[in-house]
Amino acid sequence: MDLEKLKNAANDPIGALKARSKESGRPLGLAFSSYFPLEVLDAFDLEGAWLPPVPRPDYPDGEAVLQAFVCNCVRSSADIILHGDLPVGLVAATTGCDSRLALATVLRTAGVGAPVVMLRLPVTVGNPLAVEQGSRALAGFCDETRAALGRDLDLEVLKKARDIREKGRELLTGLFENMGDGGLPASSVYTAAVAAQVMDPGDLIKALEEAPRADKAPVNGIRCMLSGSSIPSPRIVEGLEAIGVKVVADDTCTGTRAACRRTVKGVDDPVRAIGASLINRPLHGPTMLEDGHARIQQIVDTAVRRRAQAVIMLHYKFCDPHAFEAPGLTEALERAGVRSIVLEADREPGLTARDRTRVETLLEAIG
Ligand code: SF4
Repeated sequence: MDLEKLKNAANDPIGALKARSKESGRPLGLAFSSYFPLEVLDAFDLEGAWLPPVPRPDYPDGEAVLQAFVCNCVRSSADIILHGDLPVGLVAATTGCDSRLALATVLRTAGVGAPVVMLRLPVTVGNPLAVEQGSRALAGFCDETRAALGRDLDLEVLKKARDIREKGRELLTGLFENMGDGGLPASSVYTAAVAAQVMDPGDLIKALEEAPRADKAPVNGIRCMLSGSSIPSPRIVEGLEAIGVKVVADDTCTGTRAACRRTVKGVDDPVRAIGASLINRPLHGPTMLEDGHARIQQIVDTAVRRRAQAVIMLHYKFCDPHAFEAPGLTEALERAGVRSIVLEADREPGLTARDRTRVETLLEAIG
């Protein structure tokens, strides 16, 4: 793995996006959620990317149009787009939590200089009706985008982009599966995951497939799982490793959840197949309703399978979906003999002093 290339993109995602657009001459198609299939943006002749959070002390353009009680993922996204120095050709918004839902209207009202099109996904998953709704939602998104951009989706490009992006997700899934144990240290794996959001998919695969050059030695420490929304930056994982956490499992939007989608086979229409795959994902976030608390059981099962001694839940301030599931998840983990802790992320890229102390106390208790 060419860690330096991945690090450059993960440490400066905005710079990476600008360079990518400049090199190809195509504007960016930006999405905010791992539910959005980037291959569709590629096939509309855009440079498809998920916009990762960019932690900063202030977001003047975002704060001018958003209420104070909005998570930093959404605040950061609004700020970056409204700041206007990225060559954006389309904003692909997605339903989900209230903040993400509101973002489309906020951007349109603020007069962002690119079309903002919404992918309207169902809120339940795990049944055939939802799969059909997912396919229809993506077809509807494509119709609206076609009208907004005045050009068609290129089906041949879509098929190629689908396959290459799926290969990237498979490679990332492999990295997360082996994280810590014989595989790479978590800080390198999360670096690759953040870089994957913004890099050209072909360049990403080359970087992931290169033999390790500059990787770090395996980290020793207490085995933990990281759960939550998008991580603010790989620095938070480096901070955890520095105090004795060995991250061996993941349930984050940056990590395994973004990488887990696989295209539904046996469906001729690629748009329908991709739309169905959004709902058929093996791992969902807390904004989707699943029968029988499937997500909580999946997290517990993964923690136990990977012999995690604790789960560190990384929640953004003002994020209701993750906050609402935390008590039930904590209880289920306790029943399985796994400790847990909730850390609050906001504008800082790494661990705060308070969080460092709380994690150190947890590690001491585990011994
Ligand atoms: S799920 Fe939570 S962290 Fe993610 S965009 Fe919504 S409120 Fe923000």
